[in-house]
Amino acid sequence: MEFRDLKKQYQVLKTAIDSSIQEVCARAAFIGGSNVKELERELAEYVGVKHCVSCANGTDALQLALMAWGIGKGDLVFVPDFTYFSSGEVVSAVGAAPCFVDVDRRSYDLDPSRLEEAIRKVIAEGKYAPKAVIAVDLFGLPADMPAIRAICDKYGLLLLEDGAQGFGGAINGRRTCSFGDISTTSFFPAKPLGCYGDGGAIFTDNDEWAELLRSYAVHGKGSSKYDNIRIGMNSRLDTVQAAVLQEKFKAFKEYEVDDVNKVAACYDELLRDTPLVLPEVKEGFLSSWAQYTVQLPKGTDRAALQAALRERGIPTMIYYIKPMHIQGAFHGTDSAEADCPVTDEICDTVLSLPMDPYKTEEDLKHVAEELKKLL
Ligand SMILES: *Cc1c(COP(=O)(O)O)cnc(C)c1O
Repeated sequence: MEFRDLKKQYQVLKTAIDSSIQEVCARAAFIGGSNVKELERELAEYVGVKHCVSCANGTDALQLALMAWGIGKGDLVFVPDFTYFSSGEVVSAVGAAPCFVDVDRRSYDLDPSRLEEAIRKVIAEGKYAPKAVIAVDLFGLPADMPAIRAICDKYGLLLLEDGAQGFGGAINGRRTCSFGDISTTSFFPAKPLGCYGDGGAIFTDNDEWAELLRSYAVHGKGSSKYDNIRIGMNSRLDTVQAAVLQEKFKAFKEYEVDDVNKVAACYDELLRDTPLVLPEVKEGFLSSWAQYTVQLPKGTDRAALQAALRERGIPTMIYYIKPMHIQGAFHGTDSAEADCPVTDEICDTVLSLPMDPYKTEEDLKHVAEELKKLL
């Protein structure tokens, strides 16, 4: 069994994807062009925002957003302690300080009450200028955006939605990547909507920021690529990736999001009477299930469990093994001084199970049965 079965997905979509790649090769136009433009339009329409700016990956997407807002030295950005490294890395990359905030034990997303506490503390200390909140839609589940938006408004902070894992999710019908002042996603192959290499996208309703994002992504271009008015970067989605995404996006919209939710419901059912803490999706929320992550009973030998499952042909992963504030890159900085007991605890107990829209009931039963036996 594959952890995320991209081979099976390719077999299903092979004819369409192959011909789409061949068309790009035949035209020998590998950068930019109509595929990229059309994809941006399709993505913006799906998400329900005015602008989509594609770029090279989800990390650049986040960094470009911070650059467009002029965030830098002396500024501070709030970031969940339980996330992929990029969410905090980009803050330091632009010279600002990430302040790591604890997450909710059941949703794995930023805990709004802990966020407000952290904001007050930073304001009281007065060492940094708080500028923005990065809210991550972890494992596919949208963060509590209504609560986080209210806090951002109260304290005058910008909201950056890191939807790298959350593309396709929604809250009461409103899609992820529409909640931030700027929102981003990643098309890394294993994400809910992945390409065949690296890719990313940025979403905003703001015309001025959209123009700045397009400039920063193309060497700080002014009126043309050869008129450079600011220091930017080289970050683009190439045409082959756009062509692959156009085909995969059809399947994503037509059935993949529905099917992966059926897979999650089936896991819920099969694992109900176990000591595992199962992922919780609140009323009105839709997850795109980048991961199905459970918590093991405290004291479980997780490494031994993983090895035993591996022997039975079941791959599992640990997302994430280390809180952000413990990462070596932040040693000796103020960012290491976080108080995040939930993250500290769940980093030791989480286990992500094989998950994708193409899993069959037999696959899931096999995982559940072996897991129950071993527990
Ligand atoms: C994957 C991921 C990113 C970075 O995306 P890349 O395309 O790999 O650069 C950022 N944030 C989160 C939460 C992610 O999972």
